[in-house]
Amino acid sequence: MENNNSSNKNIPIQIPTVLPLLPVRNIVIFPYSQVPLSIGRERSLRAVESSLNTSERLIFVVTQKKSEIEIPSREDLYNVGTICEIIQFYKTSDGTMRIMVEGIIRGKIVSFSYNEEKGYNEVTLEIPFVEVEPKKEIEAFHREVISLFEQYVKLNKKLPLEIIYNLNNIADVTKTADIVASSLLIKTEEKQELLEIIDPAERLQKLVEVLAREIEILDIERKIQARVKAQIEKTQKEYYLTEQMKAIQKELKQKDEFGKEIDELRAKVKQAKMPKEVEEVAQREISRLEKMMPFSPEATVVRTYIEWLVDLPWSVKTKDNYDIARARKILDEDHYGLEKVKERVLEYLAVLKLTKKLKGPILCFVGPPGVGKSSIARSIARAMGRNFVRVSLGGVRDEAEIRGHRRTYIGALPGRIIQQMRKAKSKNPVFLLDEIDKIGVDWRGDPAAALLEVLDPEQNHAFVDHYLDVEFDLSDVMFIATANTLYSIPPSLVDRLEIIRFPGYTMEEKMEIATRHLIPKQMKAHGLKRNTFTINKEGLKKIINDYTREAGVRNFEREISNLCRKIAIEIVEKKKKGGFTITARNLKHYLGIPQFYREKVAENEVGIATGLAWTEVGGELLSIEVTWMKGREKLILTGKLGEVMQESAQAAVSYVRSICGKLNIKEDVFKNKDIHIHIPEGAIPKDGPSAGIAIATALVSLVTNRPVKKDIAMTGEITLRGRVLPIGGLKEKVIAAYREGIKTVLYPEGNKKDLEEIPKNIQKKINLIPVKSMEEVINIAITPPEKTPSLDAISQKYETHLPPPSIV
Ligand code: ADP
Repeated sequence: MENNNSSNKNIPIQIPTVLPLLPVRNIVIFPYSQVPLSIGRERSLRAVESSLNTSERLIFVVTQKKSEIEIPSREDLYNVGTICEIIQFYKTSDGTMRIMVEGIIRGKIVSFSYNEEKGYNEVTLEIPFVEVEPKKEIEAFHREVISLFEQYVKLNKKLPLEIIYNLNNIADVTKTADIVASSLLIKTEEKQELLEIIDPAERLQKLVEVLAREIEILDIERKIQARVKAQIEKTQKEYYLTEQMKAIQKELKQKDEFGKEIDELRAKVKQAKMPKEVEEVAQREISRLEKMMPFSPEATVVRTYIEWLVDLPWSVKTKDNYDIARARKILDEDHYGLEKVKERVLEYLAVLKLTKKLKGPILCFVGPPGVGKSSIARSIARAMGRNFVRVSLGGVRDEAEIRGHRRTYIGALPGRIIQQMRKAKSKNPVFLLDEIDKIGVDWRGDPAAALLEVLDPEQNHAFVDHYLDVEFDLSDVMFIATANTLYSIPPSLVDRLEIIRFPGYTMEEKMEIATRHLIPKQMKAHGLKRNTFTINKEGLKKIINDYTREAGVRNFEREISNLCRKIAIEIVEKKKKGGFTITARNLKHYLGIPQFYREKVAENEVGIATGLAWTEVGGELLSIEVTWMKGREKLILTGKLGEVMQESAQAAVSYVRSICGKLNIKEDVFKNKDIHIHIPEGAIPKDGPSAGIAIATALVSLVTNRPVKKDIAMTGEITLRGRVLPIGGLKEKVIAAYREGIKTVLYPEGNKKDLEEIPKNIQKKINLIPVKSMEEVINIAITPPEKTPSLDAISQKYETHLPPPSIV
């Protein structure tokens, strides 16, 4: 059935009155508008497909009253919709469709039915139509609508401006009314209302109303937005301005502070009274700093450098006190004994007073640890009224530690000499170079060479530290070095030094030092009153003998400090007032179990002799054991013997073999035997030739089976012919022997001159016998034969010690 619309000149196509129905939600489609739709509902898909199968591709699109209904019935649909042509379609992979429809003309549902066979709703339509009369009034509305719509589009950002241009070209009132209505962004119901107004003139009228209202709303919205925006802008602007103001203020303040800092640095440079060249460098660096950002990394580097320059004592000098009597008093006050050292120091001061310039050699105190080397250096500073600084060179391997790193290094600093000079605060301190025997050499340069420059009076007035890069005058500094031994000091350095030996203390000296200095010092340090406790002589002796083993008094002092702490606890905890007496008996209560147990040779024994050694830490007793067994005349040496000691052991063996005749034993006594020489206390490396006569003595004792006297110790180098040659460190060795309860010490006659170094009281208590030859040694040290045994008897005796011969 076809609707004959031929009378309607506005309808170009023949429109069937029965069409498939396409219900849509939340949208109203007007004639003349093109709208894309997405089709998903079963019935709609079938309706679209059926329409696509016709040549006109027409479909009736109507809006659902409620969007949530899936399968709308007649009541769920508005009456008026739009007959549309499907102008594009596209099937998606999920079975839905996208189509583009163009509205053609309004349609009004007459009847509605579900077509079982086709599976979609069909509607029978009537096409309502009102002819527009060309009236002035309508034209006026028409223009009004266009003008309002123009305003509306301009106010509404969501609509493209092109809509207006298109509209201006349309003369048809019906078309204008529909296009405008369709473009409005208003509620669906209201749009539907517009669709349902069939008369275009009426629709225009309604549109004017709607547009005027919408424009008003939009205008209000715009005003609100503008106001909000203005507000936001205002706050933002204010915020930005205050921030900027703060930044400017900060900058100005910093500039101000920086300016102040620069002025201060300039003033400091003036005050430091630097040499002219240095001052120029400092001022130049300040000018550089001034141009930098105050807190930039370069500024920090430059600032640190300038601070180093101004902090150094370029021209500050303390006044020397050359009052020798006073100096003597101070040295005596601080240290017990050490007469030779003190005398030498006073001489040094006297010369200094006369010459006013330190050009002589540098004093170097050599001796074991804890003998007062550093502490006397401190006293010298006190006596002279000079400041005191100290640097430990132990383990310094890198030249830069002495001379500093160049400033190009990040975190570079001056070397230790300049660092200490800053601490010294005067250019003439007493400067202690501790442990110069412990500096090393490696690929990072030779620190000793740098040190040489520091110590050389010809050069040290212009010492250049790599970091400072300007000359610093060290010629007023009184350098004092300390070392444990001379051997490891580079010879070029030794040349510059005047060696003063600190030999180590005897037990008596230690006891004096303790009563006069260490105990009062430690009591004070621990807040104990003078009479809080006393240690009796035996107690002190026991601490020295059983709790320490040293030439100096460092550990001794530590034990005393230990004791003070224990007593402090008793006073605080048990509320005792004092009056403690420490004796050898109750010592254990305070100091615990003794740390050193000295193995004393209990009785005269065969094959064991006592030698004397000199080590970095003072004198030591060496127990030398020899034995033999069946073998191939091999010499076995154990106990960490150095090369020189091994050689002297070999010499001793050769010597003993050579005198077999004199000893009344078989020439081939060593045949088929291995000799083993062992020197216990393996942890201490031992070297030097001075054990020679002791090894020979033990060997003679072994081969003659005559025991060595247990209370004799000996030291001396042996020659192949049995002569005894002089050795070093006699004082330390004798002190050690005395400490260990030895009665007699045999020493090389060539060392007689050293006797005067040995304290008189020890000389009185110990028998010191000079010897020239091994024969003398044997006669004194080895017990005489009870009765001369026959040679056979001797070898028989030893054979019995051998393991039984194996049966072949
Ligand atoms: P060193 O530098 O030789 O290793 P120190 O100078 O550090 O030894 O001395 C260790 C401690 O022993 C210091 O407290 C020091 O005052 C004290 N001391 C050493 N010898 C004496 C002495 N003759 N008289 C008084 N105190 C001494």
